[in-house]
Amino acid sequence: MKRLAIIVPCFNEEAVLWDTTKKLLAVLNGMKRDKVIADNSFLLYVNDGSADMTWSIVKKLHTENSAVCGVNLAGNVGHQKALVAGLSTAVQYADIMVSIDADLQDDENAIVRMVGLYEQGNDIVYGVRSSRKTDTRFKRITAVMFYRMMRSFGVKSVFNHADFRLMSKRAVLYLLQFHDRNLFLRGMVPMLGYKTASVYYERKSRTAGESKYPLAKMLALALDGVTSFSIKPFHFVLYLGVAFLVISFAIFCWVSYSYITGRVVPGWSSLMLSVWFCSGCVLFCLGVIGEYIGKIYVEVKNRPLYNIEQVLM
Ligand code: UDP
Ligand code: MG
Repeated sequence: MKRLAIIVPCFNEEAVLWDTTKKLLAVLNGMKRDKVIADNSFLLYVNDGSADMTWSIVKKLHTENSAVCGVNLAGNVGHQKALVAGLSTAVQYADIMVSIDADLQDDENAIVRMVGLYEQGNDIVYGVRSSRKTDTRFKRITAVMFYRMMRSFGVKSVFNHADFRLMSKRAVLYLLQFHDRNLFLRGMVPMLGYKTASVYYERKSRTAGESKYPLAKMLALALDGVTSFSIKPFHFVLYLGVAFLVISFAIFCWVSYSYITGRVVPGWSSLMLSVWFCSGCVLFCLGVIGEYIGKIYVEVKNRPLYNIEQVLM
């Protein structure tokens, strides 16, 4: 039987930790009882430099129940990095890893269905929200805009999926070969390949504590999402430069015509031409430099080129 780890990043989550542990242990024990997962499956809390009692609570829970484990980070590094810390620890012990937020807004009972889909041969199972009813209007609209933009930039990501997902050991091991420092896991996971599936659930609102994702952090994550996966903005500058040069040719014709027919004030023609031609040149050169920076950027990322799933020899 496979050993499951449920990974929970926590940043100042003292208000929800007891309740969360009770609910997650219920799910875990249920699956152990049904012989779906191994008896030594465990919860792994990653304390992301909390300033409250979070780590003391985790330590206490661990002494009471060995199925509750913890990783304590020395300082706050943010949700995505905390998650990677949890994954890289858990992968040394577990065969299957599920990540879920500490506030259990995501339905912990969906984990059972996730494990079921894993058993059917899926290496990655996405938890997908069936609606966004519990979100504010603002969050709903910005979320849709963000996904559309990502798609147009050529970034694969699953709509309405955040960081509630199951990954097999080999998927996590491959993910850990990515050297990205600006992490946007929900964009990276679809790059792993492997067979994937989704489970759908209703997301609840937070019952205690407050959101650790204020607008500023959300925007920073969105920016990471775009800039860590796409060099399209560079292409855009290049195209803009080309467009300006083409326009400047049209302007040249127009200015010449006006000059010849004498309907100009002195100095207008040369000024008009220089503005368009020079801006075109500047943008074009910036675009060319951008193309090189884009290549350098892709090279320094040093991402693995492919993921061999199986070799038959
Ligand atoms: N979190 C973290 N480090 C941070 C911010 C958040 O580990 O710097 C954790 C947090 O404890 C929670 C998860 O990330 O388990 C998601 O945060 P939250 O529920 O506040 O986000 P929201 O649901 O409001 O988007
Ligand atoms: Mg939350």
